Amino acid sequence: MPYAKVLVESKSPGIANGLTYEASTVQPGAIVTVPMRKKSVAGIVLGPTKRTGDFDVKSIKEHLHEFPLLPEYALKTAEWMADYYCCSLRQAISPFLPAQRWSDLLPKTYTRVRLLDDEVPVTGVKQKLLVDYLRDENWVSLDKVRSDISVSLATIRSLEQKGLLVVEDHEIFGENGKKYVQYPSLTSAQKRAYEIINKSKKPTLLFGVTGSGKTEVYAQLIADAATDGKQSILLVPEILLTEHTITRFYDVLAPERIAVVHSRLTTAERKHIWRQCRANEIDLVIGSRSALFSPLEHLGVVVIDEEHEWTYKNEQAPRYHARETAEAICTFAGAKFVLGTATPSLESWQRTKTEQYALARIDERYAEQSLPDVSVVDLGEVFFQKDYPLSPTLQNALKETLHNNEQAVLFLNRRGHSSALLCMDCRKRVVSPETQLPFTVHIRHDGRPELVDHTTNTRCPLPAACPNCQSANLIQTGAGTQKLEEVLRSTFPNARLLRADSDTLQHPEQMRSLLQKMKNNEADILLGTQTVVKGLDLPNVTLAAVLVADIGMSLPHFRASERTFQLLTQLTGRSGRAKPGKVILQTFRPEAAEVQFAAMHKTEEFLERELRLREMLQYPPYTPLLRLLFKGPDAQKNATRTHALLSKDAEHTVHVAPTLFSGGKIWQLLVRGKNPRALIASLKDQSFVVDVDPVDCI
Ligand code: ADP
Ligand code: ZN
Repeated sequence: MPYAKVLVESKSPGIANGLTYEASTVQPGAIVTVPMRKKSVAGIVLGPTKRTGDFDVKSIKEHLHEFPLLPEYALKTAEWMADYYCCSLRQAISPFLPAQRWSDLLPKTYTRVRLLDDEVPVTGVKQKLLVDYLRDENWVSLDKVRSDISVSLATIRSLEQKGLLVVEDHEIFGENGKKYVQYPSLTSAQKRAYEIINKSKKPTLLFGVTGSGKTEVYAQLIADAATDGKQSILLVPEILLTEHTITRFYDVLAPERIAVVHSRLTTAERKHIWRQCRANEIDLVIGSRSALFSPLEHLGVVVIDEEHEWTYKNEQAPRYHARETAEAICTFAGAKFVLGTATPSLESWQRTKTEQYALARIDERYAEQSLPDVSVVDLGEVFFQKDYPLSPTLQNALKETLHNNEQAVLFLNRRGHSSALLCMDCRKRVVSPETQLPFTVHIRHDGRPELVDHTTNTRCPLPAACPNCQSANLIQTGAGTQKLEEVLRSTFPNARLLRADSDTLQHPEQMRSLLQKMKNNEADILLGTQTVVKGLDLPNVTLAAVLVADIGMSLPHFRASERTFQLLTQLTGRSGRAKPGKVILQTFRPEAAEVQFAAMHKTEEFLERELRLREMLQYPPYTPLLRLLFKGPDAQKNATRTHALLSKDAEHTVHVAPTLFSGGKIWQLLVRGKNPRALIASLKDQSFVVDVDPVDCI
C-alpha cells in the first residue's frame, strides 16, 4: 500500500508538518479523515511519502470529498513558504484554508429527490400525492417537496425503500452569472507594454508613470485569461482607495464573476467566496494580500498593483511577502505574474537587472497629459507666524487653485494637533512612560487637548507641569493634521475642507463619501495623512503638496529614503491628471536626494543611486536580511545570548536591540549576510519568531 503525508487539522504542536498514513490512493489536496489518538480528525493529503522508521502506520479512514480541497500548486506553494519563511507547514497552509474547520470549506450540499418509477402501485393518500407531485418533475429539492405538499420524511423514505424514489445529497454549483469579456482599447504605449508582458515567460515589472493607465494593461491581460477560460488575481494595497479600479473591472467581466476580498468580510462571506472560487464560478479576485491565496484551479494571471507598498508584507505567521509568494504561486501554477508601479521597490528594480524579471515601461501619461511642475520650499528659510506649516508659496498656490475652482490635496504625515509637548526649561519632550516616545497632542471632540501615544493608543490629559523638572513652561510644537485644518480654516475661511486621517476615517463609508464629495466638487481642499497620497484619480486636482516632507520619515531605517521617495512621487501623481497641475514639496532637507529626484520626476536615477548605496552598505536587495523577534520576560536575555552565539560567524553581521515602539518589551536581532536562514537553522534554542526579508525593522 502506498503512504501519504497528511497534515491534520488538529492544532497540537509537533505534528505541524504532516504525519504518515497508509492510503489506497494518494491524491494531493484531498480532504480526508484520519485516526489520531483514538479520535478521528480532518486532514489534507500533501502527497506521497515513504515510510521511515518502524512505527505503527494507520490508514486514512475516508475521503470527505471526491475532488481535492486545494489545487496542487497551493500545496507546493505552502511547502515553499514553510521552507523560505522558516515556519511550519500548518502555518504556511493557513492562508489557503480560511476556516476554523477545514471541512467547512467543502461545497455546500442540499438533498434532492426524483421519481424513478411511477408504475409501481402506491398505497395511501400521502404516497399518491407525492408520486403525482413528482411525476412530471426532474430533480426537486427535498425542502421544496415538503413545503409544497407537506408530506413527512417517513413517507419519502418508505417510497425510497420501495425503489420508487432516489434521495441524494447534491452539491450547489451555481451557474454564477453569464460570462462575458469586454476588452479595453489600449493606447500604443500601453499596447507595447502589454506585448512585452504577454511574450515574457518571466515575471514582468510594469514600470509606468502615475496616470499612464496601468489598469488598462491589467484589464487586457485579465480579459485574455478569461477568454482562455482562466482565472486572475489582482492585488491592491487598500481596497478602500481602489474602488474606481474595482468598478473599472465591472465593465471588463461580469460583476457576478468578480469577487472582492478584504479584511472586513465576515467569516461566512469569506467562506462563501472561497467556495465560489473553488467551484470555478469566479473569473477575477480583487483584494488585499490575502486574496493571493484564493483557490482558483485554472489560475492564469496574478497582478500586484502598487507593488512597492508595504502592506504586502504579512506581519504575523506566516510572515510572507506577497511579491515573493506570488512568484512561487505563478511558477507552480504556470501563471503569468505582473508587478505594476510608478515607483518600483528596490527589490523589483534589481531583479530587472539580473533578468529575473522582464521590464515593461510606460513613460507617458494617458492622453499626453504632462507630469506636473514641482517646486521645493526650504522650510528652514521660511519665517512663520501663526501659519506654520503653510509657507507663503503654498498659500499663494492655494489661493490660485481656489480662485480657479480647482482642488488641492495636502499631505501631512502626522495626525493629531501638535507633534510634541516641549518643556522650555529643561528642553525635554513629554514622553509616554510606556514606550518612552514623545506624546502627540490631540484636540478632543469637546475641544480639550489630550496626549496620545500613537504606538499604543494610550491617552492621558495634558500635565500642568513638566514630569521631568516640574516647570509649567510647556509649549506645543510642530503640527499634525488637526492643526493644519485649523490654520487652513483661518487662512481660507471660505474654502471647503475635508480631513482624512485615522481619527476622521473610522468606517469605509466615510472614505467613500469623502471621495464622492471631491469627485462632485463639493469640497476644495482634501488634507490628510498617507491615504490622500495613494491612488486617488481626481481630475480636478491641480495642486498637491506635502507640508513637511521630513516628518515620520527620518526614522533610522535603511528603507527611509526609498519610502520618502515613493510617497513624494505618489503625491506628485495626484496632481494634474486631467489638466496641467503643480506640486509643492515643503521640507527641511531640500538637498536630500529623494526630494531632489522626486521633484525632477527622475525615478530611475533615484533607484540607481539607492541601489549603489544598498550594495555598498550591504543591505537588501544585495545582502539578505533576516530578523529574529524575542518576546516575553526573558526577551532581553535570550536575544543577547543568541546574539553572542551568532556573532561568532564571520560571514554575517548581527545587531541586537529592543524594537523602537515596544518600550523594551520586544527585542530583535537583525542578521545580514550571505545566508541568514542557514545560519539560524543551526540554532538549538528557538525562543524567537523568525521574520525573513523584514520590511519593518525598527
Ligand atoms: P495609473 O494606474 O497608471 O496611475 P490609471 O490606470 O489610473 O493610471 O489611468 C489614469 C486615467 O487615465 C484613468 O482615469 C483612466 O481611466 C484613463 N485611461 C488610461 N488609459 C486609458 C485608455 N486606454 N482608454 C481610456 N482611458 C484611459
Ligand atoms: Zn522640564
